[in-house]
Amino acid sequence: MADSWQRQLRRAARSLDELRARFLPGLEITPEMREAERRFPTAVTEHYASLVERPDFSDPIFRQCVPSGEELVPAPWASRDPLAEEPCSPLPRLVRRYPDRAVLLACDACACRCRHCFRKRVSARGGPAVSDAELAAVARWLRANPRVEDVLVSGGDPLVLPDARVAAILGALRSVPTVRVVRIATRLPATLPARFTRGLVRILAAARRGGGPAVFVSAHFNHPRELAPEAAEACARLVDAGIPVQNQAVLLRGVNDDPATMEALCRALYRIRVRPYYLFQADLAEGIEHLRTPLATGLRIMARLRANLSGPAIPNFCLDPPGHAGKIELAPATVARRVRGTTEVRAGDGTPFRYPDPV
Ligand code: SF4
Repeated sequence: MADSWQRQLRRAARSLDELRARFLPGLEITPEMREAERRFPTAVTEHYASLVERPDFSDPIFRQCVPSGEELVPAPWASRDPLAEEPCSPLPRLVRRYPDRAVLLACDACACRCRHCFRKRVSARGGPAVSDAELAAVARWLRANPRVEDVLVSGGDPLVLPDARVAAILGALRSVPTVRVVRIATRLPATLPARFTRGLVRILAAARRGGGPAVFVSAHFNHPRELAPEAAEACARLVDAGIPVQNQAVLLRGVNDDPATMEALCRALYRIRVRPYYLFQADLAEGIEHLRTPLATGLRIMARLRANLSGPAIPNFCLDPPGHAGKIELAPATVARRVRGTTEVRAGDGTPFRYPDPV
C-alpha cells in the first residue's frame, strides 16, 4: 500500500546529510553548501528527490531543492521581504497589497523548501499553523473591510496542514459573506502529490456549496519533469471536482530559462487542464542571484510561446514589484512602428504585418 501523505511528509529529508543518506547517495556536500543550508534550511520529500536524474546542480530538480554555495553570493538589492509585504500587513498573518485582495499566511511550513523562495522569512521558520484565535481575528478584519473579496491562502504551504485545519481556515473565510473568492497557493502537486486525497478534495469542493466563495488552487510547477503521473493525477482530482487549477511558474536560470523547456511545461500543463497562468520574473530575494535571469531572457521565451502555443496555454510574464504598485506585465514588443496610415506589428516569430487605420 502506498505511503500516506502524512508519513511522506514526516519522512522528508531535513538536512543535506539526511538527503544524501536516504534519497540522493551521489550528493557531494561542500562547506559552502552547509553554510547555505544554515541560512535557509533543507527540506526535500522522497517524491521530489525521486525526480532528480543527476545529483548535481545541472539537474533542474536538484537545483531547486538542494542548498548551493552560490546562495552565499551577496547582491546589493537582495531583500528578505522583496515584495515589501511586512509594511502592508494589518494583522500578523494578513497581507493586503491591493484594495480588493489579501493574503492569509496560514502556515510557516513546507514539504520542500524551494531555494528560490521569495518568502524565506516565513518558510524558514517552520512555526505553528494559524490558530483559531488568529482565524477569528482575520474573519473580524475581513468583515470590517468588505472591499477585500479575494483571499489567497498561502504561507509556507497551507496544504501541509491536516484536513481539519484546512477545513477550519475555509470555514472562517466562508463565514465572511463578502469574501467571494479563495485561492490556495500550494507547491504540493509537485512536491507531495499524495496530499490530494479524496478527503481533501471533498473539503475544498464543499467550501463553495450553499453560496460559499469560489475556490481555486494555484499550483507551482517550474519544470516539465515535475509533472510526474502522480502530480497529473492530483490535478485531475481537483479539476474533476470542479476546482480550477492554475499554475504560477518562476523563471529560473538553469531550471526553465530556455524556450523549449518552458514550451514543454506549458504544453504539459495545458494537456492536464491546468492553466499556465503566470510566469514570474524571479523576485529580488536573498540567496537567489545564481537563479535570476535578465528580463531579456523571459521576453525571448515569451516570443517563442506566442509563436507556438494556443492562447490559453500562454502564461502572463510578470514582475511583482514591492508594495502596492501591482504586477507589471512584460511582453515582447509587438507594435513595431507607424507607417503612413498603418501600424506595423510583428508576430511571435518576427513576421511583420501592416494593420491599416480605418478609412
Ligand atoms: S513551497 Fe512555496 S513557500 Fe515553501 S519554500 Fe517553496 S516557494 Fe517558498
